[in-house]
Amino acid sequence: MRPLPRSLDPLPDETLTGFVLRLAHRLGTTPAEVVRRTGLARGDRPGPPTRLPLSFQHHLDDAHLTDFARATHLTPAEVTDMLLAPLGQRYGPLNPAFTPRITPARMIYDNPWVLTRSTRYCPPCLAGNGAPIQDRHGGPWQRLWRLPVIFLCIQHRRLLSHQCFGCGMPAQSARTANALARLSDDALNPRQCRSAQARSAPTEQPAAACGADLTQQGPLHEEPDPVTMKVLLHVQRHLANLIAAGGPDTTMSAGAPVPVAHYFADLRAVVAMIFRTWPEARPYSSTPALAATLDAEHASRTAQAQPLLKTAGKKKTSKPYTAPPQDSLAMGAVLDIASLLLATAEPDEARELLAPLVQRLRDDDRALSIYLRRPAWISTPMRTAVRDDCPAREKTCTRRVGDSGPQH
Ligand SMILES: [Zn+2]
Ligand SMILES: [Zn+2]
Repeated sequence: MRPLPRSLDPLPDETLTGFVLRLAHRLGTTPAEVVRRTGLARGDRPGPPTRLPLSFQHHLDDAHLTDFARATHLTPAEVTDMLLAPLGQRYGPLNPAFTPRITPARMIYDNPWVLTRSTRYCPPCLAGNGAPIQDRHGGPWQRLWRLPVIFLCIQHRRLLSHQCFGCGMPAQSARTANALARLSDDALNPRQCRSAQARSAPTEQPAAACGADLTQQGPLHEEPDPVTMKVLLHVQRHLANLIAAGGPDTTMSAGAPVPVAHYFADLRAVVAMIFRTWPEARPYSSTPALAATLDAEHASRTAQAQPLLKTAGKKKTSKPYTAPPQDSLAMGAVLDIASLLLATAEPDEARELLAPLVQRLRDDDRALSIYLRRPAWISTPMRTAVRDDCPAREKTCTRRVGDSGPQH
């Protein structure tokens, strides 16, 4: 792999795809050409590459990593820092211990707890910080925006957007399983929406790109009321501090300290429990606006689950309840409750708080109840807090609230 004549310094927390877009823009060429000349596409097909595998945002094998680093004048460590896989050290849904997958490429497959087909974003961050290089090619498309638990930009005190205001498509989404849309389009700034209208026949001319300037995206929601915004900022600060490199090694989950990656695995399970058993956890919403947001979110999930009940064969009726919300306000609203339920100081307290959800889930959806509580999904203290059986010697048994077994 020959080094490119010029390259770029990666911006803080920049994704690989964001870097490819900025580099192509700087070199005045197509992302496809950058993909080819950096070794991300092997020359086994004639013509420019048409696809960048989704998994390349997550993980590169040694050969791809070395070639890409050499071509872009970066160190392999700098390239690794643009990938999502390293976030798994602190983020359970990307950690092999809590999301068992055979290979790194499989880790992102059907894993709604990492965004690989689209991204959230903060328009002012995307506009850049005023440095000349960012004025020309935009600010970084950030890695953390790919984690559903990041829903708010603390710097700009603004809920993240997830779609384009011009065409309504999820931001940075491609029609096929492709990490970058319109690889052969050299006319767009990295800040612009790359979505295109669908072609009705494969022979038709490709439609023009939407091209909307995503930095001009207005807020998706009316600004939440000040108390709600304060709650959301607090929740986001807490979670962002845990995810940040150099953050604490452990944090409290279900009444005991656990490694941070375990905490995020627990958070994922509690979010599913909250949605599947709603409105059991409604009293824990910090503000009426957040509770109302979750009422609406739950109604839309129930509407998605209903048709699945009527279909034959393997039913995936739990699926609409287990994915994190796309919308950042709904995400913040459910994380407000989930983080509160996990923040107890004592195991007994965690068990009491979670008992109504555990029981309702067991009664309504036995399969999901078992799935969410398996060892490869949640931390040890969380398993203790949500388990069915309870040895008689433990006093938690006598303190269980309303736990009289399944009622049918
Ligand atoms: Zn921002
Ligand atoms: Zn668009």
